[in-house]
Amino acid sequence: MLNVPAPSFPVPSSQQRVSAGGRNKTPLKPGRSLMDWIKVKSSGKDLTGLKGRLIEVTEEELAKHNKKTDCWICIRGGKSTENAGKEILNGAFSNSKHPQEADKPIHPRYDWFQTDSTVTMVIYTKQKDMSSDRVTVDYQENILRGEITVGDYSYLLLIELSHPIQNFEVNASGRTGNVELILQKKDHNVWKSLGQSLEGHDTFIKNSQRGIYYRKCRLSSLTEINHNTRLFCFELPQGCHLQVPVGHHVYLKITISGIEVVKPYTPVSQALITDLLKSSQDNEQYLYMMIKIYPNGSFTPKIDTLAIGDYVFVSSPRGCFRTAQVEKMEDIFLVAAGTGFTPMVKLLRHVLNRASNLRKVKLIFFNKTENDILWREQLENLCLTDKRFEAQFILSEPSDLWTGYKGQISHSLLSEAVARSKKDSKVLTCICGPNGFIDQGTRFLEGLGFSQEEIFVFRE
Ligand SMILES: Cc1cc2nc3c(=O)[nH]c(=O)nc-3n(C[C@H](O)[C@H](O)[C@H](O)COP(=O)(O)OP(=O)(O)OC[C@H]3O[C@@H](n4cnc5c(N)ncnc54)[C@H](O)[C@@H]3O)c2cc1C
Repeated sequence: MLNVPAPSFPVPSSQQRVSAGGRNKTPLKPGRSLMDWIKVKSSGKDLTGLKGRLIEVTEEELAKHNKKTDCWICIRGGKSTENAGKEILNGAFSNSKHPQEADKPIHPRYDWFQTDSTVTMVIYTKQKDMSSDRVTVDYQENILRGEITVGDYSYLLLIELSHPIQNFEVNASGRTGNVELILQKKDHNVWKSLGQSLEGHDTFIKNSQRGIYYRKCRLSSLTEINHNTRLFCFELPQGCHLQVPVGHHVYLKITISGIEVVKPYTPVSQALITDLLKSSQDNEQYLYMMIKIYPNGSFTPKIDTLAIGDYVFVSSPRGCFRTAQVEKMEDIFLVAAGTGFTPMVKLLRHVLNRASNLRKVKLIFFNKTENDILWREQLENLCLTDKRFEAQFILSEPSDLWTGYKGQISHSLLSEAVARSKKDSKVLTCICGPNGFIDQGTRFLEGLGFSQEEIFVFRE
């Protein structure tokens, strides 16, 4: 007898069949297949009727939608994470309950999934220029703290993980705005929950309202730059991902006579030239700070007494400069006085590497004496190696041997120094230095016809 199988529909291996594990699947009408669903899903229609918004759904609300024509399902048992101390089960979504301010970006939400060896948290920020320097992560004693800057807002993840991890990796996509935290499990076991949320977890508030967070960093090297300025290199602790965006600063905190003293500093790169030649980033575990020591200052004399191996507290980055401001520019003028040079260091590297329309970038650098000019040799070498770059040094107390520019910041000095490479070129002037210098400089620049959008001031 021939062994002819009985005709059956769907065919035995079809996705429309009851799965091997016995899970019931909804039979489709004859003539319909998974392709129909895929077509509907990719049609671009607003199938949820929510115009892309996320809403928080209570169990009671979910239970009401139980009809053939109005059927909601809960795919992975989402739980609200707004209150501290709740267990975070798989698929935790968030939603702000407060009415959104007009300019407030969408409250990020997150999800997580796991393999044998990793737990991946995905944070959906919808911020198109998201990058890993907007993400600061600290993992210590099983507590994971992740802070993401979205415009002027800060999104916080603060979780006591249910299991220990070995290390983690941060990936950010500028295209989708998604941030991935890939946690390497210490033991290859299945996590039933991510852990316990701690106070502040899943909050989305203005950067200025978020308390400053510090981690302990070790002084790993110290280099003389000139008679009063040193390059301090601080090593981030293990389990810390922190990158300072171009033009942003951090706060250093030390205890002096029992009082915590805090001052802002702008990290620089290890060197100007070598860095420009390197396409890769600096070693990301180190932060370099060029600090001028004031013998009668309240903070710097103390930091000057630190020995290699001593610790200071370093904050997460702060600042409002956006690199998008410079990337389309044709002329960039950097007006700096003394250690006001520090934000210009990374900015210079960034524009020379990234500003595709750049014709000219000029540093107009004010100091007292020749000995005060920071990284003069490197700046002069850069002028020789990159024709787009020019450095002009102006001294207020030069020696008799000085043949260069002399004086203080003035209208006439600037009018010559900040000449555009062509009429109506796209221009940005950045200025940094003591407050009096910034105020005067900004006034002169406005007097020379620069609009407010064409002037960026680096200050706290
Ligand atoms: C955003 C930002 C980034 C910065 N980045 C850097 C950096 O990268 N590198 C760097 O070296 N500095 C930087 N600074 C400056 C830094 O934060 C400190 O202000 C500086 O190091 C002085 O600290 P201090 O406490 O030792 O001195 P202070 O106690 O503040 O005194 C500094 C000097 O100024 C004099 N002085 C203080 N107040 C007055 C006053 N009212 N009138 C006249 N003189 C006064 C003091 O006698 C002393 O000589 C930055 C500042 C800001 C706002």
